[in-house]
Amino acid sequence: MSNISAETLKNYTNYVGIYGKQKAALNFGLSLETLNRYLRKARKLEEGIKKVDKPNILIFDIETAPVQAYVWSLWKQNVYIDQIESDWFMLSWSAKWLFESEIYSDVLTPKEALNENDARISQSMWEFIDHADIIIGHNIAGFDIPKLNTRWIVNNIKPPSPYQMVDTLKEAKKNFMFSSNKLDFIARMLGTEQKMDAGGFETWIGCLKGDQKALLKMEEYNRKDINVTEEVYMKIRPWIKSHPNMALYYQDDMDHRCRNCGSKNITFSDKMYDTGLNRFTTVRCECGAIGRARVSALPKAKRDSLFQACAR
Ligand SMILES: [Zn+2]
Repeated sequence: MSNISAETLKNYTNYVGIYGKQKAALNFGLSLETLNRYLRKARKLEEGIKKVDKPNILIFDIETAPVQAYVWSLWKQNVYIDQIESDWFMLSWSAKWLFESEIYSDVLTPKEALNENDARISQSMWEFIDHADIIIGHNIAGFDIPKLNTRWIVNNIKPPSPYQMVDTLKEAKKNFMFSSNKLDFIARMLGTEQKMDAGGFETWIGCLKGDQKALLKMEEYNRKDINVTEEVYMKIRPWIKSHPNMALYYQDDMDHRCRNCGSKNITFSDKMYDTGLNRFTTVRCECGAIGRARVSALPKAKRDSLFQACAR
């Protein structure tokens, strides 16, 4: 059995897939028991060479045009729908896959800007989000995603396929108390790259007027933001308590993997991780994140008694 070739094993598996085990055993002159043993071996071999699947993690950011409206005063204004001269729309987007160097972006053409037509760039942004397993950005839960959803439904684009989300603004608010939660402020505090100056409101006005230079400046500003977002995310990542579980995306084996980064390089500590009714060994990943072992550190009798004591 040990020197049977991978090719033969593969052949047995394929044959069984088409004709079933009875015929296969007959055809190859094997007992059913032996055939089953070969099939198990073939499965193991296939799992071993299966490439590790990594998740598609997308960092992205959009820039939008302001709502243009007639106002009577600068102080405490209620702007009624009739006062809106033209509604907001998307000017540009930029995105990159985590750890990859290439930055992708799209921006309105001067003609599209004048027509306030963001259908084309809404679609190109959609292609990326639709492909992503996890999306990352600053204030994407409160801004970018609802904004994009609006432009997608207005432009008759379907909802993208499901994704998990990490909003660095939400995480910053949840875990820290920076004096400002703006991306460039947090970046400065964490010693990461700083945001490029967009050139003030003039750039937005230029975009609305269809000025090519202003549109390109907007795109460049948008692209620069992406690197900053990635760096801030990497600093915050070990602090995120309910990060989408990265271990789900690796189909290798049953080893422990870090929930936050997917690494297998984790160490077990003697500090305990307590939940209401159970106790686990604490683990720390090379990325800094804290997790817990999957298996309880308590004997079954203790777990049962805890459960019963609380259930009453
Ligand atoms: Zn980790």
